[in-house]
Amino acid sequence: MELMPEFKLHRPETVSEAVRLNGGSETARYLAGGTDMVVNIRRGIEAPETLIDLNGVKEMTGIREDADGLHIGAAVKLQDLGAHASVQRDYAAVAEAARAVAGPTHQNYGTVGGNLCLDTRCMYYNQSEWWRSANNYCLKYRGDICHVAPGGKRCFAAFSGDVAPAALVHGGEIELVGPRGARRIPLVDLYKNDGMDHLALAPGELLVALHLPRATAGIPSGYVKSRVRGSIDFPLAGAAVALTMKDGKLETLSIALTAVNPYPQLVKGCDAYLGKAVDGELLEEIRENVRKQAKPMKTTTIAPWYRRRVVGALAQRIVARLAAE
Ligand code: SF4
Repeated sequence: MELMPEFKLHRPETVSEAVRLNGGSETARYLAGGTDMVVNIRRGIEAPETLIDLNGVKEMTGIREDADGLHIGAAVKLQDLGAHASVQRDYAAVAEAARAVAGPTHQNYGTVGGNLCLDTRCMYYNQSEWWRSANNYCLKYRGDICHVAPGGKRCFAAFSGDVAPAALVHGGEIELVGPRGARRIPLVDLYKNDGMDHLALAPGELLVALHLPRATAGIPSGYVKSRVRGSIDFPLAGAAVALTMKDGKLETLSIALTAVNPYPQLVKGCDAYLGKAVDGELLEEIRENVRKQAKPMKTTTIAPWYRRRVVGALAQRIVARLAAE
């Protein structure tokens, strides 16, 4: 690990002040829990000249419920999200995902916004400065080639947030505020299939809140991940499912994946299963469809073929569990 570099630290109390301090500068970064950002700074991956600490921004720290649904401030701690009674009751996958992030210490610091905006990860990137320089860096930062796919010009680093897939199956939306104003967009539109530039944020734009719609409140949902060390690790593969049953058959089905692509992805083709009973044959079809759409690359020490198999099995198991409830 490197020493912390020199930087200016600001502690704004409002969203507008935070956005003004950032000003769209390439060398400014927002900071909340810092569980990922500070590690990246110590590894020399990030070198911000200005850090904007969001912990004093009260507008971003509460969870509010109204007729529209649940409004979760981006600076809400993951521990508070996972323990919130309405989240547990109405958006179970989101609560399960928050409780699955790393371990309790990280959940006590890490925030909703930080987990949604988590940088993509790769074993050739999340290393010390010494290690990366000895390997001539890589495309994602300071280098000319991708060690995962040396002939290509793309980065396949995996998005590894847990909350995003859970919020996606509940139709989550996000509120963004930037130098050019505020906007609310579907969460799915935040992400791009590019490990080097995976967030569709304008310069200086700040994720202020996650909205979970009333329409999906109470729908049975769940999130499960696979990782090497259950006490701390990022997912090697993760799946979230939300579904409803009518007369013993699938009425609605939504599946989202994490850690198997540079973005958290909604699985396509789920409508084909609607109106069918959830039996062994259907579960096999779902597992195979999920496996085919997952495209993990060699970005971790665990083989891609294994992660593809695991993500299919995870989705299949959650569908079976929720259908039987
Ligand atoms: Fe670097 Fe390639 Fe890994 Fe992206 S996928 S971080 S370019 S080695």
